[in-house]
Amino acid sequence: MAKKWVYSFEEVAAAEKYAGSWEGVRALLGGKGAGLADMTRAGVPVPPGFTVTTEACNEFRKTGKFPEGQWDQMLTAIKQVEKLTGKKFGDASNPLLVSCRSGAKFSMPGMMNTILNIGLNDEVVEGMIKLTGNPRFVWDSYRRLIEMFGTTAFGVDDEVFEHPMAEYKAKKGYKLDVEMTADDWKALVVVFKEAYKKNVKSEFPQDVLKQMELATKAVFESWMGKRAIDYRKATNISDDLGTAVNIVTMVFGNMGDDSGTGVAFTRNPSTGDKKMMGEYLINAQGEDVVAGIRNTQQIEELVKAMPEIYTQFMDITGKLEKHYQDMQDVEFTIERGKLWMLQTRNGKRTAKSTVKIAVDMVNEGLITKEDAVQRVTPDNVDSLLHPQFDEKAKKEAERTGAYLSKGVNASPGAAVGQAYFDADLAEKMAKENKQDTIMVRPFTKPDDVHGMIASKGVLTSEGGATSHAAVVARQFGIPCVVGASAIKIDLEKRIMEVDGKVVKEGEWISVDGTTGQVFIGKIGVTAPTLEEQTELLTLLTWADEITARKDIRVLPDGRKAPGVQVWANADYPKDAQRARAYGAKGIGLCRTEHMFFETERLPIVQKMILAKTSEERTKQLNLLLPTQRKDFDGLFEAMNGYPVIIRLIDPPLHEFMPDEEALLEEVITMRVKGETKGLAEKDELLAEIKGLHESNPMMGLRGVRLSIVMPEIVEMQVRAIFEAAADCTKRGIVVHPEVMIPLTGTVKELEWIQPRLERIAAAVMDEKKVKFTYKFGSMIEIPRAAVTAGEIAKHAQFFSFGTNDLTQMTFGYSRDDAERNFLITYVEQGILPKNPFQTLDREGVGKLMQWAVNEGRKTRPDLEVGICGEHGGDPDSIEWCHIIGNNYVSCSPFRVPIARLAAAHIALKYSGKKVVEDK
Ligand code: PEP
Ligand code: MG
Repeated sequence: MAKKWVYSFEEVAAAEKYAGSWEGVRALLGGKGAGLADMTRAGVPVPPGFTVTTEACNEFRKTGKFPEGQWDQMLTAIKQVEKLTGKKFGDASNPLLVSCRSGAKFSMPGMMNTILNIGLNDEVVEGMIKLTGNPRFVWDSYRRLIEMFGTTAFGVDDEVFEHPMAEYKAKKGYKLDVEMTADDWKALVVVFKEAYKKNVKSEFPQDVLKQMELATKAVFESWMGKRAIDYRKATNISDDLGTAVNIVTMVFGNMGDDSGTGVAFTRNPSTGDKKMMGEYLINAQGEDVVAGIRNTQQIEELVKAMPEIYTQFMDITGKLEKHYQDMQDVEFTIERGKLWMLQTRNGKRTAKSTVKIAVDMVNEGLITKEDAVQRVTPDNVDSLLHPQFDEKAKKEAERTGAYLSKGVNASPGAAVGQAYFDADLAEKMAKENKQDTIMVRPFTKPDDVHGMIASKGVLTSEGGATSHAAVVARQFGIPCVVGASAIKIDLEKRIMEVDGKVVKEGEWISVDGTTGQVFIGKIGVTAPTLEEQTELLTLLTWADEITARKDIRVLPDGRKAPGVQVWANADYPKDAQRARAYGAKGIGLCRTEHMFFETERLPIVQKMILAKTSEERTKQLNLLLPTQRKDFDGLFEAMNGYPVIIRLIDPPLHEFMPDEEALLEEVITMRVKGETKGLAEKDELLAEIKGLHESNPMMGLRGVRLSIVMPEIVEMQVRAIFEAAADCTKRGIVVHPEVMIPLTGTVKELEWIQPRLERIAAAVMDEKKVKFTYKFGSMIEIPRAAVTAGEIAKHAQFFSFGTNDLTQMTFGYSRDDAERNFLITYVEQGILPKNPFQTLDREGVGKLMQWAVNEGRKTRPDLEVGICGEHGGDPDSIEWCHIIGNNYVSCSPFRVPIARLAAAHIALKYSGKKVVEDK
């Protein structure tokens, strides 16, 4: 028996049995087919039909033919549809019409082909007219079929049909399609048939089965069409999935005033508010709504127009939401007073609405906290913390007449860019000229997606919140305003105009996708605060609860542990405050030297560096001590109760000195001009700076090496840390200072420096008569330190991976120059999978880290391990830290929320599993 290639909507159980899971059914029948079958099972009124599987599509792609048995199964299936509907395919007296729709596993809106009204031919048209008494609608449907067949099944250009239609309308003096009469459409059918014959080189097929066959092939072929391929590339959908084909009984929304059609989201896809949002049109076909050509009615108005249908619709959509436990995007048609649901799928939405819906659904008892956390991606969180327009700047723009118009706020966020009036140009200017572009169109079509993706924002003058532009923009997180109808776009003159204000192509505009406003020129943006986003805060609290479960992770040594905590890198009290507000559970790195660069401190630091004797150096350091103490005091206060890791001075000293070249130029100029005042001092300074010169400073006198050569600096720093900690303790603040020694390469360095510093710590606590817990530890950022970690851990009570330097030194790539010189080429050429300074190289750098954790914990089982390089905020790198057993990751305060969510995702992904063997 031939394989089963075709499943009727009633056969969902058989599909589930074959595919093994619901995911499998979605892969087999496509999202749409699976949805229709599932809705049929749930008793939702779905027009009868059947699905040809993605497996058939993949066979077709290999051979160019339907696989054996497919066609016979389609014939059997259409017979069953005839039975269910009581209609007959190709029978003029009681005709069945069907649509042929694509549907891949993942939704690809508008990317593939659909053909409607299959089953109409010259005879059936006459029969339909008798049945419906509506010749205008029947002739209109017929001309649509001929047009769709030509353009879709045979790739004929739209213009072949659009042009004669425009000509016909002009001749008649019509502006809108609604003005066309039955006779007009009938006349146009003749014109369309001729155009079809001329371009396809054969007559339009009168055999309805031939129509079904050609339409199915056209859908299969559209899977490999350019726009579908481009879309899949942009959304990481595999080419191998294939599309299913759905043959569905046509129901008509254009059969009079008791008919209609619409689309709706069960919640607001932009804000997440729990309120149905949708549009419908009375006496219209589906594409009239989506294309945004006719002005639609809001879904709430249906309650007045058709109260019973409205109640039934709300009841069904409520059930669908409960069934799928997610916000649904539905399409429906009302045919002569009967409601049909044509499609349901999880609706695409903005980051804001993703978070709100997830949190609301937990509160409504629909999903678990784990579900909610998993539904939100780190990218969602990232975009929520993205810029919005500065309110003051916007007010100012309004005052100065820069305000242009307001449309529908279709996808939130602020976009500033140069306006381009077609997708190709918007993409070209963005890619080749590196411009920030805004794509401006009357409305968008699937062919425009590449221009939208390349742009910072999208603006259309037509269409509503469910128009193509709106749906696509939301999916990609591109700020978008649609339906700004006051804006007149002249595609020929390449300008747009509102009330005499003209914007030429290439001029700057600002588009506010949050409010729908559009301005000429550039408007300033601000980053939104996390504090205002209550749902996100709730979600992140749930994420932390998951990560903090004591047994969610099995460490490489078999012990149970929580997931990775998120700490932050913060140099100043105000950064620490932000870090804490963003949910950091500690400071993983305070780069103390940043404090030395402040204007009033730098001259003291320079004098300290130039000091000839230890006494002179100590004198200058004593001047710095109170200010350093104050900095640390602020950090401890902000992080009350949490650990604060303070790193001792790290960079080479020349970084604190004036620029050598600039100074040399000054000295030469003074000599040339014969100026002598101050020249001797400058000469001396120049000589000192030359003395500090190193050919390779990154590998030179820095980190712990500098502390050993010049211990006075770190002695002062440790005193400042402990004095501040003691003062804070006296004020009731709970402190956990951790002193971090950078750039350790051999344990002997720690043996030399650490006891001296620990003595100072003890002395300060004695002097101040307070006690608190503290740690001394080491950065692991030199491969030798990682390799000898077992030794290092004899002294270090904690490790923190400085993966910026560790990556630099493991690869031997300069972290300052590699990206500029060759790294991009390496990634492009596939020599490296990713930039290793952004995403941890697990195979090299990662292996060293793993070794270091294991060896370190053999020496000291309670060794605290973290990471403070840039990788600490990167989800992929965080995953590696979870696997190897890090206690925490530390990243920039702004990335803390993203890292918190990523840490929870990873904790759930590996929950209870020992992922890496201790080798
Ligand atoms: C590192 O090397 O990863 C690190 C955090 O230190 P810095 O970037 O200051 O060298
Ligand atoms: Mg470093």
